[in-house]
Parts: sequence; C-alpha cells; structure tokens
Amino acid sequence: MSDKRHLLGMTLDELRQVAEECRLPKFAAKQVADWIYKKRVVSIDEMTNISVANRTSLSERFDVGRVPAVECQTSTDGTVKYLFSAEKDNFIESVMIPDDERKTLCVSSQVGCKLGCLFCMTGRQGFSGNLTSNEILNQIYSVSEAEDLTNVVFMGMGEPLDNYAEVKKTLEIMTSDYGMAWSPKRITVSTTGVLPKLKLFLEESNAHLAVSIHSADVAQRKTIMPIEKAYSITEVVSLLRQYDWSKQRRLSFEYIMFDGFNDSVEYAQKLISTLRGLPCRVNLIRFHAIPDVDLHTSSKERMETFRDYLNSKGVTSTIRTSRGEDIFAACGMLSTLKKEG
Ligand code: SF4
Repeated sequence: MSDKRHLLGMTLDELRQVAEECRLPKFAAKQVADWIYKKRVVSIDEMTNISVANRTSLSERFDVGRVPAVECQTSTDGTVKYLFSAEKDNFIESVMIPDDERKTLCVSSQVGCKLGCLFCMTGRQGFSGNLTSNEILNQIYSVSEAEDLTNVVFMGMGEPLDNYAEVKKTLEIMTSDYGMAWSPKRITVSTTGVLPKLKLFLEESNAHLAVSIHSADVAQRKTIMPIEKAYSITEVVSLLRQYDWSKQRRLSFEYIMFDGFNDSVEYAQKLISTLRGLPCRVNLIRFHAIPDVDLHTSSKERMETFRDYLNSKGVTSTIRTSRGEDIFAACGMLSTLKKEG
C-alpha cells in the first residue's frame, strides 16, 4: 500500500479537514463520503462529481485505501475465510458466515491479542498491533459479499475494546447517515469485559453486546482468562445491570464448553445466579481443541443437558452451530502466525 493517507475510515469531520487541506469546497467532504461509503469506489478518479483539478489535488496526498484480500478459503459449510494484509507486514483474518438469508462478517480489530485467553489461537499468537478504522472497514468493504452483508460482528482476532478509539470510529462510520447508514442492530461487539472501555461503549454506541464469560466462577475464570484478574466478571455484570436491555439493544454471553471443566450443572447454577434477572441470552459454543492446551471438547449430550438446565431456570440458552472448522475459521481458531516471519 502507498504512504498516502486513506480516505476509507475517515469520519465526516476528518473528511472536512481533508477538503480544507486540499482547498476543496466544504461540501466536497460529503461528496467524498458518498463516493467511498455508499458508492464504494476504489479510486479517487471515480469521484466524477468532483472536478478533475480537485481530484488531482486530493490524489497527491490521499487514496481511497481499499486493499483486496490476499487469500480466501471456502469451507464445506459455505463459510469463507479471508486473509488481509495489514500495516507493518502483518496479516489479519475475517470470516463470512452465510446462514439462510443472513450473511454475517466476523471482523478482526487487532493483529493478535494481548489478553492471552488459554483456549484461543489468537491469544497464543501474542499482540502485534491495533488495526486502524481503515483496516477494519476494509474488511467490510473488500470481501466478495460486501454488498450483501446483513450483519457485522466484532468477534475476529483481538479484543475490540482494547482498540476502542478505532472501533468507535468504525461504528460511527457504519451507523452514520454520511457513512454506511446501518442500524446498530446489525452490529455486535464482543468483549471479555475491559471495564473502563465497556462503560464508554455502553454510553457511546447502541450496537449489541456479546460478553465472553466462559465461566461464572471467578477462580475458574482466572485460570483460562487472565483479564479476570484485572476486571472481574462480577463487576462487569453489575455494570451491565445499570443499562436497559429489554428493548432495542441485545445482550448475550458467550460460553465455550470444556469437558469436565465448566460443563456441569454446578457451573450452570453459578451462571444462572450471576445472570439472574438480566435480560440476556447465553450462546453455548463447542470448543475447538488447540495444540498443547489441556482443555477438551464437551460432548453433545453434556452441552444439551447444560442448555436445557439453563432454559428450565429461565436463562435463554442455545448451542451455537460451529462453522468453518475445516478451514480453521471457527471460534477461537483464528491465527495468522503461520503467515508471518
Ligand atoms: Fe483475545 Fe478474544 Fe482470543 Fe481472548 S478470546 S485471547 S480476548 S482474541
């Protein structure tokens, strides 16, 4: 990619500054936003309602900043995994999951991750950097299904709230009239519970929230998710209780099931007492074993018993269908380590 600054990923305010810097009329900012976010152009040359002289002036310092995927793999179940290059010779992955009428794109927000959850390949990879709003939006604009996407989930590589500034900017562009004009209901941000940033997110966005809980037992959670030592799930849940989840916004908890670890009725009871009275649902996820980690996949029967127990006690729970396992695109399997170095 060139050293020019990228227009994709800029808010309308930033595009106004670009217009000023390039001596374009003020209204050009809105025109540029329209070309990039609605008409989805890949070059400044295509912005035909902007004069040739002004396009030349823009092109001297800026480009659109769209980069195609470098690799793409399709699963037998229709899931497609894309590999994109990111700044500093890094790579990131995005996964498109088709489901009847829906096409959901799972985007990455960081290269690797700092949080080191024991069960996660991305965590194993370590952290190499935050993605910019350009790199996050490029995933959404450059997959083959870009124009048909119905939903976007921030559940790929990285902890989105550990890169809050760029994620917030991306959410603004996705939901603003000048940008993609999406309803926030089409977007879900997942988090392990980075408390200070979670507070901001709850105030500043209306997107849905998915909290990766994986255990409601604080001591047990600490052994698989180091973040529990900094921000306990009990504090996270008490913060969530201060918001209204009964109307527009959806709250869900992700629970990966590990055989003989967190999949007994005893742990279901802990989960129920932690979530009591909170309007939410629990998604149970099958664990995809990763090398050198002493955690194993729960059987279908144990998952069903756990699910039925939660439902019988009034906690809505479903088993999430695992997708893209054959191409290492399923939950917790994303890693670009093999592409580096
Ligand atoms: Fe990071 Fe999420 Fe993996 Fe934990 S599960 S290491 S937060 S990417």
